[in-house]
Amino acid sequence: MTPPLDLRSANVLVAGLGRSGRAAARLLASRGARVTAADEGRPDVGDLAGVVAELRLGQRAFEAAGRDLVVVSPGVPLSRPDLAAAIARGTEVVAEVELASWFLPQPLVGITGTNGKSTTTALVGEMLAAAGLRTFVGGNLGTPLCEAVGGAWDALAVELSSFQLEGIRSLRARAGAFLNLTPDHLDRYPSVQAYAAAKARLFELQRADDVAVLNAADPACARVAATCKSRPWWFGPTVRPAPAARPIEGGFAVDFPPARSERYLVRNRALRGAHNLENAMAATLCARALDVSAEAVQRALDVFPGLPHRLEWVRELNGVEWINDSKATNVDSTAVALRAVTGPLWWIAGGRGKGAPYAPLRPLLEGRARGALLVGEDAAAIERELGGVAPAIQAGTVEAAIRLAAERARPGETVLLSPACASYDQFPNYEVRGDLFRRLVKAL
Ligand code: ADP
Repeated sequence: MTPPLDLRSANVLVAGLGRSGRAAARLLASRGARVTAADEGRPDVGDLAGVVAELRLGQRAFEAAGRDLVVVSPGVPLSRPDLAAAIARGTEVVAEVELASWFLPQPLVGITGTNGKSTTTALVGEMLAAAGLRTFVGGNLGTPLCEAVGGAWDALAVELSSFQLEGIRSLRARAGAFLNLTPDHLDRYPSVQAYAAAKARLFELQRADDVAVLNAADPACARVAATCKSRPWWFGPTVRPAPAARPIEGGFAVDFPPARSERYLVRNRALRGAHNLENAMAATLCARALDVSAEAVQRALDVFPGLPHRLEWVRELNGVEWINDSKATNVDSTAVALRAVTGPLWWIAGGRGKGAPYAPLRPLLEGRARGALLVGEDAAAIERELGGVAPAIQAGTVEAAIRLAAERARPGETVLLSPACASYDQFPNYEVRGDLFRRLVKAL
């Protein structure tokens, strides 16, 4: 791919200076562009000093007039009046990932969806690496795609959020996965349809020999299949024409036309739960689309360490398993965890609630929760809504909840931190909450 304009004579605005925006500004400057880097807040931009032509911090509008190109960070909506006006004037306005893609000729696997993006992206990375490919893993997760430019990569495994996909114009995914779509980010999109349309862009830009990995049970994926030029490969229990991946006892099978089947075992603790089986099937189809061998895929499925804070296995102590699912900051994610973890359970939950009812968790706790150890602002609300389903203990803090669980849990039981709430009442973010849990549990 080549840039659609000569950057050496270009006047470029970078809007939003988080890690992605700063990486874009550095890349543009290294290619000779005259860069204005702007942010309405005052982020730390030490890495841009002496690199960009102009820094505009704490000013309200992004001055897009007179620019040849505007590159936006994922946090900046293209629907803002100043950017919408620039687009209407014909200015090229693109996402940071689009800019990066101009300089990345390697095959790219793009992964999007409401849930499971990070896990699937990391797993695809593991599979490509198992095949001996030097693989960049990043995008919305971890390292921005602009930081991949110039690296000695054979392949790219890239997590793409809908915000990033809004601003792609030519980014081509040799394999693109659409995991699922549930209402989310409706603060930023006028409707579920608009949110789905942003995600569908990844597939609109694919070519006939690319592969679209799609969830067979998801109506948004069916709409993509009806319009994309690429070849649909399906995953899930719903029967679809091959190529398709479907669950079987102990793992999943992948059927290829006319009548060839491959079997994969999922026996890795880091991939427990029906949701992770879906992620594993999607990742496998992406890897097979890039001709990674079935053996390398199976090796990766076996050794994938999982991501921190997502059903992360911490330790077994005196026959009790301890699991950190601090990333579960809403009721839906906790429901996913409660389905994935079987057997008798001590459940640590609470924090800053998001206003959704906790009642959907009742059937998942009934008959097996030994106790609900409740912390944070929403502890009383959870006790009220789930009253009677499990003995509720007002623990107050995660530290106290761990102490109580360590005293009471018996061999064969599990202690699960899956809060169903944000952490902001007691922690800077869910990572700090999960790190504290892991550290204290390891010290028991
Ligand atoms: P994302 O990057 O899309 O936020 P993650 O891989 O970080 O996704 O997973 C976040 C949470 O989403 C998990 O802790 C789990 O609760 C839930 N989840 C993961 N995969 C799926 C899936 N395939 N379907 C539904 N929920 C999932």
